[in-house]
Amino acid sequence: MSPGKKGKILIVEDEKKIADITRVYLERDGFGVAHAEDGETAIKLLKDKFDLIILDLMLPDIQGEDLCTMIRKDSEVPIIVLTAKSAEEERVKGLGLGADDYVVKPFSPRELVARVNAHLRRTKKASFSLSFNGGDLKIDVQKHEVRKKGEPLTLTPTEFKILLTLSERPEAVMTRYQLVNLVLGYDFEGYERTIDAHVKNLRQKIEDNSREPAFIKTVYGLGYKFIGRGDED
Ligand code: CA
Repeated sequence: MSPGKKGKILIVEDEKKIADITRVYLERDGFGVAHAEDGETAIKLLKDKFDLIILDLMLPDIQGEDLCTMIRKDSEVPIIVLTAKSAEEERVKGLGLGADDYVVKPFSPRELVARVNAHLRRTKKASFSLSFNGGDLKIDVQKHEVRKKGEPLTLTPTEFKILLTLSERPEAVMTRYQLVNLVLGYDFEGYERTIDAHVKNLRQKIEDNSREPAFIKTVYGLGYKFIGRGDED
């Protein structure tokens, strides 16, 4: 299997025709593709690392659902389930197993490739850093690391959560009450002022000048909003 410029995909599908056409479309789009025609082969191939798995639910030797659960035990790899079972509850069940998406057969290979790309963009975003204002502020979501102009900052878990919550919703005004809810998980009033104290500390770390913030702006009478400009990746 060629590694592929865009990543490695495993197709688990016993119907050769479907597997072949999916492979052709994915390879044409720049992916490296491995194919397993049953669960046993898939488990062997899964000793390698893949960027995404396309998994048929109806396999000859093992239930696709069981394979999905097995994969999820030690991997967060995106899984797109192929299913001929189109009943609504089957779809929901598929996603409940930890699959990220499903495609109902018969499907358009072009649409499947589009979904693969969408999932990989999302994974990349979540595992890489968010970057703002030309790299002045970088947040590594997985590692819980924040850098200001390249220098690592020490944020408390609450400060990190506030920063992430705001920066994921640029330009959206978040009330103190919403922040208390999302960040601290308290569902009652009276804790709003503690948010102010955390934001004050956070600003001292991430802003050059807290009076003229480049990232977290106070919206008087309402709350806060994130005003950093996201960098293109
Ligand atoms: Ca099948």
